[in-house]
Amino acid sequence: MPIQIVQSIADARSTCRLQNRQGKSVGLVPTMGFLHEGHLSLVRQARSDNDFVVVSVFVNPTQFLPSEDFDTYPQNFEQDQRLLEDEGVDLIFFPSTKEMYCSSNSTFVEVTGQLTTNLCAISRPHFFRGVATVVAKLFNIVEPDRAYFGHKDAQQLAIIQRMVQDLNFDIEVVPMPIVRDSDGLAKSSRNSYLNPDQRRSSTVLFRALQHAKTLITQGERSSNRILAEMEKMIQATEYTRIDYINIVCTTSFEPQEYINSEVLIAIAVWITNTRLIDSIRIDPANLTS
Ligand code: AMP
Repeated sequence: MPIQIVQSIADARSTCRLQNRQGKSVGLVPTMGFLHEGHLSLVRQARSDNDFVVVSVFVNPTQFLPSEDFDTYPQNFEQDQRLLEDEGVDLIFFPSTKEMYCSSNSTFVEVTGQLTTNLCAISRPHFFRGVATVVAKLFNIVEPDRAYFGHKDAQQLAIIQRMVQDLNFDIEVVPMPIVRDSDGLAKSSRNSYLNPDQRRSSTVLFRALQHAKTLITQGERSSNRILAEMEKMIQATEYTRIDYINIVCTTSFEPQEYINSEVLIAIAVWITNTRLIDSIRIDPANLTS
């Protein structure tokens, strides 16, 4: 079957409903397009788990501030379509902003509490409301059995899991590992903004996270000391400005003073005008050096 490209909500809904009625499982991979190997790892998992695979390509305006890169966010739909055809995807949902948000739209989904008060929520206070709202809309349109999200956006993943539980969506959220370039930089559509010098500097995110892991493996348990070393490393690298570095509990996202159980070390760094995020999960009871 050739890939279907659908721009209207009504067509996406009726096609997905038909699959459900025929007893077929539906997998959804929400994306903002400009696809790379990170996205494709989610698509491959969805392809192997489900009878019918839907990938949404939508740059969601409600998760950007006016000062952010909504207007310049990289796009290449023809290339995305080719990549998704090669992966055997069944349907691309590619709606316009007008289709997703009518002018009178005034309903938003907001996850509250600790999950949305630190890390990315500090410098992007609007962000998770926009993400939760668009993902809830996609869930209502596609009604998937499973939806795939990357650990690359660790806080987003936790927030979606919370929303699915709190709003009783009958959907399995499947978390997927971070896909990286060979030098450790996490794949991201925004990496395309980096010039060669900035691209070299950008590896400091992964190097700082690896350094933290080494310190913990050597027995260090004080978050402050680990964060101070990471900060020093990043500040010594050209083009960088730290947005945040933090060590939090992987479930509550509460900052941890000491590392006694599994933690998420999360980092956001500006490389000149490009904000990159990365993270690793570390369980001190289960360390391999
Ligand atoms: P985006 O297009 O950036 O909104 O990302 C769409 C989905 O792909 C999200 O669930 C991301 O977490 C996931 N994703 C993006 N980059 C990566 C990566 N390097 N590895 C794994 N998943 C990723």
